[in-house]
Amino acid sequence: MAGKRQVPDAQGRFGVFGGRYVPETLIAALDQLADEYARARNDESFQQELAALQTSFAGRPTPLYHARRLGDQLASGGGGPAVYLKREDLAHTGAHKINNTIGQALLTTRMGKKRVIAETGAGQHGVATATAAAHFGLACEVYMGAEDVRRQNLNVFRMELLGAKVHVVDTGSRTLKDATNEALRDWMESSQNTHYILGSVVGPHPFPMIVRDLQSVIGRECRAQCLELIGRPPDLIIACVGGGSNAAGIFYPFLADEQVRLVGVEAGGRSRKAGDHAASLCYGSPGVFHGALSYVLQDAHGQTMPVHSCSAGLDYPGVGPEHAYWKEQGRVQYTTASDDEALDALRLLSRLEGITPALEPAHAIAEARKQAPLMAADEALVINLSGRGDKDVQEVARLLGVQA
Ligand SMILES: *Cc1c(COP(=O)(O)O)cnc(C)c1O
Repeated sequence: MAGKRQVPDAQGRFGVFGGRYVPETLIAALDQLADEYARARNDESFQQELAALQTSFAGRPTPLYHARRLGDQLASGGGGPAVYLKREDLAHTGAHKINNTIGQALLTTRMGKKRVIAETGAGQHGVATATAAAHFGLACEVYMGAEDVRRQNLNVFRMELLGAKVHVVDTGSRTLKDATNEALRDWMESSQNTHYILGSVVGPHPFPMIVRDLQSVIGRECRAQCLELIGRPPDLIIACVGGGSNAAGIFYPFLADEQVRLVGVEAGGRSRKAGDHAASLCYGSPGVFHGALSYVLQDAHGQTMPVHSCSAGLDYPGVGPEHAYWKEQGRVQYTTASDDEALDALRLLSRLEGITPALEPAHAIAEARKQAPLMAADEALVINLSGRGDKDVQEVARLLGVQA
């Protein structure tokens, strides 16, 4: 941002947020990663190799699609903005996650490491990691909670097809947060030959910065596409927020465009009650979780609370530290959409545009339904369509009480 200090600083701080709250044994691996990334970032050959992979392997650039029928519907009664969808659902493996995993896999090869590990919740990040590992011929092991393995068995098989080994984690709530703890534990012993491919803009420095930079390809493309299609940046950009990587990726290149409003949408779940949602920024408070200071859903003793969302990708009690910083600065507004609103939005987009979104970005579409009627006809609204809905069709059928 022009005239403002670059974040994070050398300590990995976004204002007071971020940093490194990890055991001493991980500091050397984090330092090595930060050094390697600093070199890669300024290395023409790294950037070229990454760009080539984004094109030939990941299918970039993804289109910016003018959703005319959705726009007409949202404006019903006159006026209303032009609505565009940034089509990350068309990226390889069906979501934005591949942008991060191919970039980190490329960094792994630069560090001379031969093995990668990852945590996964519903399995989407595990599949994207196994995909990138297969491309580079890296050994890949993925930690996944036993409860998630039960719910997402097909993704376990997909990872195995891609050559990965899946470790079932049987501790704690047997979900993503426990899988992350196990992956960190593995890395403490293996960092000599192993890179940990973290799945969102979370964790200790330098992960939030690296993942943000790798996902910023979304926003850079989107900005260029807006200039071409409408001759200027859009007036409003909406993205869903789990850990916060697709939102950070589309927001970051627009931060300096102060006239562009940015809105992040968290999982409002069933209600505002603790345990019924996963809205860390909206309903949580500052605390340390998975190696960084950010907003966390925690009880009075600092214990993380159970979370709920209809969408597995948003079901996380923390959020990236840069989002906490943007919230406190007032640069990004954060809000929630409920399970029911997301489900409705998924059906609406399917019917009107022939695009079934994942349940995660359906939260962003739900927010667009609230914002569009307040906007003028000469304005433009972009929704980050972070992933496709194929993975969620079975769950949607269950939620609607349909036999599928
Ligand atoms: C994993 C996932 C998310 C949530 O992760 P972020 O880091 O917040 O982007 C959102 N949308 C889709 C389609 C996902 O697979």
